[in-house]
Amino acid sequence: MEDTIAAVATAPGEAGIGIIRVSGPLSKQVLRRVFVDNRGRRKAEFEPRRMYLGYIVGGGVRIDQVLAVYMQAPNSYTGEDVVEVHAHGGTLIVQEILQTVLQTDTRLAEPGEFTKRAFLNGKLDLTQAEAVIDVIRAKSVTALRQAERHLSGELSQRIVALRDKMLPILAQLAASVDYPEHDIPDVTKQSVLAGIDTVQRGVVQLLETSFAGRVMREGLSLVIVGRPNVGKSSLLNALTGQERAIVTDVAGTTRDVIEEYFNIDGVPVRVSDTAGLRETDDIVEQIGVLRAKKALAQADLVLVVLDQASDLQEEDRYVLTETASYPRIVLLNKGDLEPSIEESDLTAEHIVRISAQTGQGLNQLRAQIKAMVLGGEVQSESLMVANERQEQLLRLAYQALQDAKEAILEGIPLDVAEIDLRNAWERLGMLLGLTVQEDIVNQIFARFCLGK
Ligand code: GDP
Repeated sequence: MEDTIAAVATAPGEAGIGIIRVSGPLSKQVLRRVFVDNRGRRKAEFEPRRMYLGYIVGGGVRIDQVLAVYMQAPNSYTGEDVVEVHAHGGTLIVQEILQTVLQTDTRLAEPGEFTKRAFLNGKLDLTQAEAVIDVIRAKSVTALRQAERHLSGELSQRIVALRDKMLPILAQLAASVDYPEHDIPDVTKQSVLAGIDTVQRGVVQLLETSFAGRVMREGLSLVIVGRPNVGKSSLLNALTGQERAIVTDVAGTTRDVIEEYFNIDGVPVRVSDTAGLRETDDIVEQIGVLRAKKALAQADLVLVVLDQASDLQEEDRYVLTETASYPRIVLLNKGDLEPSIEESDLTAEHIVRISAQTGQGLNQLRAQIKAMVLGGEVQSESLMVANERQEQLLRLAYQALQDAKEAILEGIPLDVAEIDLRNAWERLGMLLGLTVQEDIVNQIFARFCLGK
């Protein structure tokens, strides 16, 4: 028999209500032991899905007046018997109630254990379970809509459909395996190859969304570089609309990397304002420059800031060279002043003239960023792959399909292709959590908060 587990399901701190959640076979028994109705009487029976007003009693005292509800297996979040106690939302109250519950043959739940049980009991597949945490952590409305779609099982349905398409191909292969190679009619080969192509296209369609999907989830990582005093901090402030980064006239003051989040039409952006990227003898500044270089290497997009009111300097050229191989936009800042640099002086592909001070050109910059992220094609409405695990399994499935195709084309005995196809089939199954190693499942649920 499974343990009965309990945890506080709401965030710590003061709030309108605090919820203690219990799941497992002893849930109803726990409620019988800790709950009395409004007249102080214990109740033997609880109708499922009905809110009961009463008190939680522990150590002979009434801890709090609460609403309690019992949900009967399998009709609950976890698929087990579940009890929820809605108490007043005070840190001490919910902790006392939790401690009282824990004295009745229950143990404290591990992070994500409720959702893990939901998965193990078949209430959610693995992509849906992953979506639970994405819903909670969503940083923009668009990201939230994406996660909700995953939660509703949209990705799973796409995967199931792909697997369904593989069944007749596998059957055809299995039927042909017993024949010697030269006896297999070409039509069979052709139809098998065509079938694999279709599935491969479906996998590619999903894979193409994985970059945009990651950006929606974690934010686009944007790095701002340029020599001191060109206006990096001012730009960061203008973009985020906050006075967070320190703006000064002393060269090299922004030594640390500062991170800020903001949104461009629903695309979450994580921006780092980095130290001036230049050759320097100052030890502290050297550390900053090293960090800046590291941030550059990890960035999705680099904003190179130049001061267009002064001539191009040696340090500007250094920055331009250092960033040449990264996806970048070169910004001619201080556009409100008399220009000394023209677009034609530079060889960069994307150049935008802005003024961090007046806001001139910032909308054009935003549009450019968005266009580069989404390639102008992937709209936020299309379903996106939600994480690296999913992306990797899709890649492996694609590769296995490719191997199968090549085996058939090269005239290698069909059972080799069959093995490859089964591989692809299993990878797609892993996405749903149908065949998955326990440690991976544990890894996924360890990311959850307590009580979820
Ligand atoms: P950083 O060292 O690159 O971070 O540069 P700062 O953001 O600290 O800016 C350096 C100086 O340039 C400050 O005095 C800013 O007020 C000024 N500055 C920044 N952007 C503009 C701009 O667009 N126009 C003008 N006129 N001055 C600016």
